[in-house]
Amino acid sequence: MTRFWHVLLFILLLRPLVLPTQAQARLAMREGVRKEHTALVRKATVHPSAVAAMPPQAAPAPFEAARLFKLRPVGAWTEAEYLVIESAVTATALRLAQATGREAADIFLAVYGGLVEFRRTPACPEALVSCAGLWGWTETPTLIWVLPELTPSLLAEHPRWGVHELGHAFSFALAERPEQLPDSLLDRSGFAGALNDWQYSSAVSGREIFADMFVAWVFAQWGTPGGPGTDKAGWIALHLGTWLEELQ
Ligand SMILES: [Zn+2]
Repeated sequence: MTRFWHVLLFILLLRPLVLPTQAQARLAMREGVRKEHTALVRKATVHPSAVAAMPPQAAPAPFEAARLFKLRPVGAWTEAEYLVIESAVTATALRLAQATGREAADIFLAVYGGLVEFRRTPACPEALVSCAGLWGWTETPTLIWVLPELTPSLLAEHPRWGVHELGHAFSFALAERPEQLPDSLLDRSGFAGALNDWQYSSAVSGREIFADMFVAWVFAQWGTPGGPGTDKAGWIALHLGTWLEELQ
């Protein structure tokens, strides 16, 4: 054999030891993706009530919650805050997936029209007269302001607050139609808990009551069965199909 063939044979013999074959590379990539998904699913159970409330047959596929939202400005958030907002986005996406049969990330992006930005501000946005007593303000379907009163420790303790704001964003994506509640539902009855637990406003307005109804819908948690919560849940169920069909 010539020197050329020696070298070629040497390379061919050595190749499996040095370079991964295409199949090996594909396997390694799949393993990486699987690990990533497992980590995300584990993260998604930080606040597990949404997942626990779902019937097992509806358990959706893992998805990457991190690509559904962004926190601005970068660096202004604690890890606990990140996890709480991620859990709110995750719970909402999972519920939308359950309601539509679509993949969680796809339906979330379709409903909101893109990823949702949570924007922290040290001063009250000009559009608001005052921020006294306010934790958040949803300006558009994809922009939620985190106001000065919602300090890191407060936000970290209220995983459902983000879902309330995503309820406003959902309503805005539908030209505010979901908040046109019938008079019979315009009260603060039927929720699973009090203010800053299962309600993130005490206002008796269609807008704020709907946002809290959205929280109840996402987590499938209402007040005593057969009571006013059942009426509120029924109203959402009645309209949800039309709303989601419009947004998909
Ligand atoms: Zn609100």
